[in-house]
Amino acid sequence: MKQILKNLQVKTIFSNFSNVHVVLCGQSAVIFDAGCQVEFVKTAVGNAKVEAIFLTHLHYDHVFYLMDYVNTFGCKVFLFNKRFVTNKNYTLENFIPLNLLLPKNCYESLENTKLVNLNNFSVECFHTPGHSADSMCFKIENCFFAGDTIFLNSIGRTDLFLGNSLEMKNSLNKIKNIKFEQCFSGHGKNSTWEEQQKNISYFLQIL
Ligand SMILES: [Zn+2]
Repeated sequence: MKQILKNLQVKTIFSNFSNVHVVLCGQSAVIFDAGCQVEFVKTAVGNAKVEAIFLTHLHYDHVFYLMDYVNTFGCKVFLFNKRFVTNKNYTLENFIPLNLLLPKNCYESLENTKLVNLNNFSVECFHTPGHSADSMCFKIENCFFAGDTIFLNSIGRTDLFLGNSLEMKNSLNKIKNIKFEQCFSGHGKNSTWEEQQKNISYFLQIL
């Protein structure tokens, strides 16, 4: 899927693990999540320079190929809290033994950060726990990157370890007040702001 916005282009790579979104602006790129093989990301990035990788959360299906990404693009990785990278409750490896090999010394914590200013991108950061304790959503211009918090006609499950339906409710209330045009999720199809307003309202009633 290719989406041309003002001066941004978002390329979504749909994969069996998690969607990966590559955002291009001129000769720069940022990547959201690491759930598809790096070859696909390289193709999407082309000649652009990758300024950063953002992780929506540490579940294994979103970080599975992170080592390859960092080796290939040599950039920083932003996530909620770098202390959790080695915590197998966050990756879910305590429940699904995978022996993930994650990179070291490339992380920046976003716990107390609302905005990350890169060379060509300003990335707004929102802590949205509920699906997992470290779930984050991000916004660049009118594009919203939702991870596993909201999907087209659905929301992220809250029954996994570190999930919490009350926190999900609070996060949905937060997201409801954020204006965007397109929502790029961690799984399934992307959606519009209008679709998400309906979706979020529905789940706020039943949570
Ligand atoms: Zn997840």
